[in-house]
Amino acid sequence: MRSKESVDYEHPAQGPDHCGECEHFIAPEACEFVEGSIAAGDWCELFEAENPVMAELREAGITPTREAVIDAEWGSSVPDPWTLEHELELPEEVQDFSWLDKEVEGRPHPGAVNDEDPPEIPGREQSRNSDSK
Ligand code: SF4
Repeated sequence: MRSKESVDYEHPAQGPDHCGECEHFIAPEACEFVEGSIAAGDWCELFEAENPVMAELREAGITPTREAVIDAEWGSSVPDPWTLEHELELPEEVQDFSWLDKEVEGRPHPGAVNDEDPPEIPGREQSRNSDSK
């Protein structure tokens, strides 16, 4: 953990950015990297803006789980097949590459051509199987 002095901590923030919009903020008053009590209206030089979708979900009182982020980003139009490119569009906090392991195990991954038995996208209920019923 870093001390407030070592990261030019401002209480309150002197500019437009503040801890409440930082991806390292742990509500209600902590930080991943800076020790001590951290107020949402403060700032330090380690500030990194939180992904806007994650921020919107939090502001709406919704826990930004992987499923919630995918729903917010794509709704009923989740890309099919799901590819590495789509995975990388997700905020790091909710990325899950476990479906790539399934390819290593000999199973087709969501980006495969002629994918007859695609593995589920982690954190997302599959709808394509229900289409054929
Ligand atoms: S701005 Fe600095 S102190 Fe505030 S949450 Fe981000 S990293 Fe922590």
